[in-house]
Amino acid sequence: MATDYDAPRKTDDDSESIEALKERVPDKLSGSVDSEDADNPSGFELPGADLSDLELDVVVLPPQEDEFTCIECFLVKHRTQIDHESAIGAVCRECAA
Ligand SMILES: [Zn+2]
Repeated sequence: MATDYDAPRKTDDDSESIEALKERVPDKLSGSVDSEDADNPSGFELPGADLSDLELDVVVLPPQEDEFTCIECFLVKHRTQIDHESAIGAVCRECAA
């Protein structure tokens, strides 16, 4: 097909045209860059990004009512695993053993 012969020529022409465009791009974008910079600040203030950070902090939840944090191993365990409670907190059975 004739297109097979044209393909190699087109790639060569594209590479040359792309280089020519790169040289022209800075001059053409110089005017639009200002508008993009004005939009970027609002992009950083997206509430979604802040919520994701808050969720990461919330992951460190205090123990539930039926759970406790062992003062020895700092693991959150079910209250049935409490061996004894001291003035500063509960100790799990594994640490008390
Ligand atoms: Zn423990």
